[in-house]
Amino acid sequence: MKSSLPRTKIHTGGNDNDRTHTSSSAAAVAGATAVSTLPSTGPANASAPEAGKQAPGIYRYKVGSYEMTQIADGARTFPMPDNFVTGATPAEAKKALADAYMPDGKLTIMFNPLVINTGSKLILIDTGNGPAAYAQTKGQVGQLHGNLAAAGIDRKAIDVVLISHMHGDHINGLRNADGTPAFPNAEILVPTGEWAFWMNDANRSKANPYNHNYFPNVKKVMTGLESKVTKYEWGKEILPGIHSIGTPGHTPGHTSFMVQSGNGKLLVQSDVCNNPLMFMNHTDWIAPFDNDPALTLKTRHKFYDMASAEKVLVAGYHFSFPAVGHVEKNGKNFRLVPVLWTPI
Ligand SMILES: [Zn+2]
Repeated sequence: MKSSLPRTKIHTGGNDNDRTHTSSSAAAVAGATAVSTLPSTGPANASAPEAGKQAPGIYRYKVGSYEMTQIADGARTFPMPDNFVTGATPAEAKKALADAYMPDGKLTIMFNPLVINTGSKLILIDTGNGPAAYAQTKGQVGQLHGNLAAAGIDRKAIDVVLISHMHGDHINGLRNADGTPAFPNAEILVPTGEWAFWMNDANRSKANPYNHNYFPNVKKVMTGLESKVTKYEWGKEILPGIHSIGTPGHTPGHTSFMVQSGNGKLLVQSDVCNNPLMFMNHTDWIAPFDNDPALTLKTRHKFYDMASAEKVLVAGYHFSFPAVGHVEKNGKNFRLVPVLWTPI
């Protein structure tokens, strides 16, 4: 079989030709046989145009009778600033990036909204970075709307948009690029505490620098949508089979969800941690997005203690696509074991 390999080089041209002629004459019979059994691999691959972009990010699975569709909104990669991580030295944080195979000191953050079809309602949890960001980033983020369409889900058919918290990467997709509502027939559910915090500028002084800067964006997105907004409390069944779980710290009203159908259970963590390779593997590390570090860590440990003890499936907005897996205890830290992709 080896003798057939140089023959494919004939099509690449250049100096390889000399070597190819020698070896092909020495193994003419074997080569001819191999070529006839491997008809088109080399030349066809070389002439096919590259796609130049990723396939649509869609992943389906069942939780009881509910159909879940993870939808990728895309990913941002940026040089991680020194002092980005609280609880680690810059060198330790850079080493963790390298250990996680994120090269050149650059951090990647992924964004993954979730659609739940309960059979009677179509629910979207969080909305990605939005079509305006799609234009600004040449499609790196803001892919939700396109990937929904690729999944065969009409934006107009979404009954409920369930918001975990009001950071831009979770709410900006509520608006089309022209500012019109992206889910015109949906009720928008927002945590009561989250609405109270962000819609009152007097709270800006209680926010850390990153969150301080986020107040105008929340106003810009939510103003004019008030008539569609219903506020919800923690510890309640807010939709059939979906319970709200207070997980404050990342933001004051930050909320996770337990989805239950039949024997199926899914914990939707939202932003209990950001990129798990950084902030779950190092459970006590804090990102600038986490408004209240002490409360974030208290919440995170409690949540992962529960998730790992119950061995329950966990969806994470900033997990790597398809953004669902199990959380295991790993010494004083935790780690994510991603699901195995299943074809049905
Ligand atoms: Zn987020």
